[in-house]
Amino acid sequence: MSERTPKFDPAVIEAERQAAWAERGDFEAPVPAPGQPRVYVKPSSPFTSGNLHMGHVRDYSIGDAYSRFRRGRGDAVLLGFGFDAFGLPAELAAIERQEPPADWVAQCGERMLGQMRRLGFSFDYDRVFYSSDESQYRWSQWLFLTLLEAGLIYREDATVDWCDTCNTTLASIQVEDGRCWRCHNEVRLIRRPTWFLRITPYLEENDRNTEQLQNWDELALATQRYILGRSEGVELDLGAGERELTVFSPHREALGLATFVLMSPRHPEVDAWIGDGARAELEQMRSGGWERSARDARAVPVVDTGASVAGPAGGELPVFVSPLVDARFGPTAALGIPAVEEADAEIAKRMERAPDPVEVGEGEERPAAPPVPGARDAVQYRANDFSISRQRSWGTPIPVIHCPEHGPVPVPEADLPVVLPRDIRPTGEGNPLDDRPDFVDVACPLCGEPAKRETDTLDCLFDALWLWVPAAVPPADRAEQMFTHPDLQEWLPSERLVAGGDSGGFVFDQRIVTKALRDIGPFAFMEEGEPFAGCLFHEMVIADGRKMSKHLGNVVDPDELVGQYGADTVRFAVLYAAGPAKTLNWSDGAVRFASRFLRNLWTYSQDRFVALEEHQHDPEAAADTEHMRDRLRKWCENGLEKITEDSAELQMHKALRNITRLFERIQDFEKRVVKRRGQLDRADAEAQVAALVVLARTLVPFAPHTAEALLLASGRADPETLGAWPERAEIPVAFAAPAPAGT
Ligand SMILES: [Zn+2]
Ligand SMILES: [Zn+2]
Repeated sequence: MSERTPKFDPAVIEAERQAAWAERGDFEAPVPAPGQPRVYVKPSSPFTSGNLHMGHVRDYSIGDAYSRFRRGRGDAVLLGFGFDAFGLPAELAAIERQEPPADWVAQCGERMLGQMRRLGFSFDYDRVFYSSDESQYRWSQWLFLTLLEAGLIYREDATVDWCDTCNTTLASIQVEDGRCWRCHNEVRLIRRPTWFLRITPYLEENDRNTEQLQNWDELALATQRYILGRSEGVELDLGAGERELTVFSPHREALGLATFVLMSPRHPEVDAWIGDGARAELEQMRSGGWERSARDARAVPVVDTGASVAGPAGGELPVFVSPLVDARFGPTAALGIPAVEEADAEIAKRMERAPDPVEVGEGEERPAAPPVPGARDAVQYRANDFSISRQRSWGTPIPVIHCPEHGPVPVPEADLPVVLPRDIRPTGEGNPLDDRPDFVDVACPLCGEPAKRETDTLDCLFDALWLWVPAAVPPADRAEQMFTHPDLQEWLPSERLVAGGDSGGFVFDQRIVTKALRDIGPFAFMEEGEPFAGCLFHEMVIADGRKMSKHLGNVVDPDELVGQYGADTVRFAVLYAAGPAKTLNWSDGAVRFASRFLRNLWTYSQDRFVALEEHQHDPEAAADTEHMRDRLRKWCENGLEKITEDSAELQMHKALRNITRLFERIQDFEKRVVKRRGQLDRADAEAQVAALVVLARTLVPFAPHTAEALLLASGRADPETLGAWPERAEIPVAFAAPAPAGT
């Protein structure tokens, strides 16, 4: 490093660049020019937890790099962002701190936005929103009323998953192996009136479309298939007249070996089949006698209805009820075929009315199945309607009024929003909205008589159904045109969703609701009903081979890293260390490597920029090294081609590997010339500086502060277009007078 080399001081460089971006409004969503590709990049919407964690840094580093890359290529880019601010995490944090959740959410949001700015993420910060803002949840309520009117929301006294600890119902995707997603306690089933989102009408279309989605990575597609839970098989009508039952089986060849029928406790006709003797037992199963952890066929509850139905190959099949069906095929009825299905064999052993399964010894053939006529192809989906109401206060109020005369009455759209009392102070016990007469006591919209407001609130899962929409609407127009603004047709569907691998459930439901809004009208322009044209899921960030947790003391704090190394180093390290499909096991090695690389690149490039003028030109010397400059040009062309391809495919770790490799080659070029001739000719130095400029340009999406500062220092980049992507590597092989600055 020469004395003239500007010092590499990330804190100073990054503050300067960020000030320049803010001043120029570089990241405001542009008005797309005619024919200009529109790219709406949707990163994940975090809970307002108060701190970015390394998973967020990973998410936003990928999304930001991609956005900068696309901007650099001349596309109109919207990198929008909002908080999923309602829900249990914020409510529980507020309880702990004894303050209103609204205050807590505001503090957390401010802090997290500060962290994001410090990391240099190029969001359009003017478009940031909170799902808990009145202006925002007004539209969650509108969506509720719209889906209610379309018959896609219904209220039913139903069996729901209930967590005793959290004192709330749970959606099935919040139940993991029979345990609460949040507190990991065992979940039980209870009956209560609940609002449901009907997704079943769109399962088939989600299924069909999943196979045609372009630009979705394998991880993302796998989550969609898993959540759908498709089983192929056949359907049969058993019995006759009033005692008819349609049953499903994935075992087409073995239907004749069925020995019983298993019905879901949620089957719409289950009550018609259950005998009086078994009714109490069924109620017990529904109301909590069954721990959800009992997925095992040896332990799962099974109720004998006492009824039988004529089997497909003659004989009578006893009809049992068990939630085991739901876990496999959804709320249907299925044939029990112990000969081919181990779980069915376990059930048969336990149930008196089922014949004991025939043991087939090793080498023996199982008995041939008698032919069964009348079976037709069928597909079952495990995914099913789910509850969207919660007995919690920090959520979107459900716009419904209960009238003694008229039952549940939707709040008229003109009366939206139904405002959540801002000073609500949850304690963790029950639902504080129940104790607020100012909220609860209202007049019925139909008869004007005293009535009660619904005090269940919407699960934040419901807010999330449309969290990808608001960023595409200018904030000033959101009050009037959230779902009808003309810009929606410019930006939707989102070109790319970048989200954690655990977002599959949210995305699945977003895909459903997009189809619903397409059919209802507002989203008719999205013919496929798909909100995301492309989707990248990334795995999480862990440390020491384990999930980060305060308890283990292995939490990596992004602020500390940024303070010590600078934002670019942290971004570089998190992108470089692993491909998106791999879990990133955080180590200081990655951050040290990134820091060293950026520092070396800085010093090396600055030295060459400064020393350029000192090189003499000698035509004879230049001719002698021309083939070397030509090779440098090819290295740059090949490198650029690869880095461009990697970036377009969001394989940022590969792009960075190719960037580090190109830097090695540029250094190698100099070593070879010096070895041959003792020093660089002016032609060599010009070629090398041009190569360093190409390199810095490719680095902009990943380490934007450092890369832009280097471009400025080179004197060969227009300060107004520092983010432009180099479409060609223009490395001068023949010597020409140096290009003037600013071109
Ligand atoms: Zn819980
Ligand atoms: Zn009424």
